[in-house]
Amino acid sequence: MSKHDAYGTPAKPDNNCRTCTDFKYWSKQQRQIFHKADTPKEETTESSPASRDGCPLDKVALGRATWGLLHTMAAFYEDNPSDNQKRDMKTFLEVLSRVYPCEHCAKDFRKDLKEHPAQVNSQYEFSQWLCKFHNRVNVKLGKTQFDCSKVNERWRDGWLD
Ligand code: FAD
Repeated sequence: MSKHDAYGTPAKPDNNCRTCTDFKYWSKQQRQIFHKADTPKEETTESSPASRDGCPLDKVALGRATWGLLHTMAAFYEDNPSDNQKRDMKTFLEVLSRVYPCEHCAKDFRKDLKEHPAQVNSQYEFSQWLCKFHNRVNVKLGKTQFDCSKVNERWRDGWLD
């Protein structure tokens, strides 16, 4: 019987999702063969079984999908949100930080939210706050920091150039 963390994530996906893991290494090899120098760095991060229909998300795929949701929520957040909208967004983040199905990620998420409370007074404020929050996770993981002046290009308007 496989072990799961509090929210159903396999504790050791590499052992518990053999088929997906095998695909992960296979697809990595294929990419190395077919895509060389031109591929942007962020597209060459560790492959994930999320690219294969029917496989559970691992930590990488879950994170990527969650950031996509969060940044898109920030991109389409109101410029002048009502008190209810502000409260809803703060509540959403607090609940997400409690139920996020990667325990150590969620623990750091809660700590960061406490130290840097969500700023939700406008689209600009929220998207910048989220960008900085994401960058703190990037730093922790040794990833490149994102230029927050470009966050609406990335997640709302499309690249200018
Ligand atoms: P991601 O970091 O997933 O980013 C997706 C895309 O967002 C990038 O391709 C880039 O275009 C864009 N982007 C990058 N940075 C920013 C930014 N600052 N602002 C706006 N856009 C940006 N993984 C762990 O191993 N340990 C953890 O503790 C951990 N904690 C996490 C906590 C949370 C709340 C979340 C949502 C995820 C966490 N993850 C954690 C997952 C991790 O952050 C990445 O999602 C995962 O490693 C995949 O990284 P990636 O390189 O595909 O890009």
